[in-house]
Parts: sequence; structure tokens; C-alpha cells
Amino acid sequence: MRPDAEQVWKNDEIRSRFNRYFSIIKKEKIARYLITKKIPITIELDESIPIEKLWSEHQRARGKFNKLLQELDAQQDPQKYYQKSDTPKVSFLDLKIEIANRILQNCHFCERECNINRENEKGTCRLGKDAYVSSWFHHMGEEAPLIPSGTKN
Ligand code: SF4
Repeated sequence: MRPDAEQVWKNDEIRSRFNRYFSIIKKEKIARYLITKKIPITIELDESIPIEKLWSEHQRARGKFNKLLQELDAQQDPQKYYQKSDTPKVSFLDLKIEIANRILQNCHFCERECNINRENEKGTCRLGKDAYVSSWFHHMGEEAPLIPSGTKN
């Protein structure tokens, strides 16, 4: 470990700017992506559901997500509260995955807005439906508060 990666957390300004990040490291708060796994979805996620309906469910789930985030942040022991809460079969995270897959069908993931179907076409990025991770490693070259950072290519 680079020595400055630990030293940096003794700096008040860094701690206040990365407050949530620091709290997650200390297990005092729960990462947002984990909270999405606890939010139930009330619609079936099948291909017949129009994207507009998925987005409106996303809006509804977002409200529940914000409520649970506040509840967890208010807990003395958020880890315990998180572990005890029910995990739905189909979650807000699954809904996000479904929406992401729909976006691939008319790809506008980035500012290029190629609007192609990545199932059988390639846009400017040359990526198809499946993007592969060729390597994953702990990258130590970022700024001190961000290392080690999980990096993939
Ligand atoms: S460059 Fe790739 S990710 Fe961006 S819109 Fe085009 S196909 Fe989608």
C-alpha cells in the first residue's frame, strides 16, 4: 500500500470532501449499489414491457431507494440493519440492468448517440452486445484517496 493512501485520511478537508466514501470504507455507511438490491420491483421484467413503463417504475423505485438510504444513514449499525432487511427476488438493480439492456437496442449510452442495435451492429466504440473484461487489477496510480482502485480493461 502506498503510505500516502493511509495518510490522506488524516486530512480534514479530504475527509469532508470524500465523506460518504470514507464512511463506506469504515463500514459506517452502505454503498448505494448495495442498497438498490434491497428495493423491490412491482412489475415483471420481461421483453413485452415498454421502456416507458420501466422508467416509470424506476422513478417509483428511486423514491423508495432514497427513503431506505436515509433510514440506513440514520442507523447506529447500518450493516446490521442492511443484513436484516428483506432481499427481494427482483430488485431495483435488476430493473437498472433491464433498462441498460434496452438502451443497447438503440445505443445512446454515450454522447456519440449512435442509435444502433448492438445486438447485431457496432457503433463508434466497436463494442457489440457483450463487452468483455480482459483484465482486472488494483491500480495504485490514482490520487491517494482513491487507491487501491479496482480497474478493468
Ligand atoms: S459509441 Fe458505443 S456506447 Fe457510445 S453510443 Fe455508440 S455504440 Fe453506444
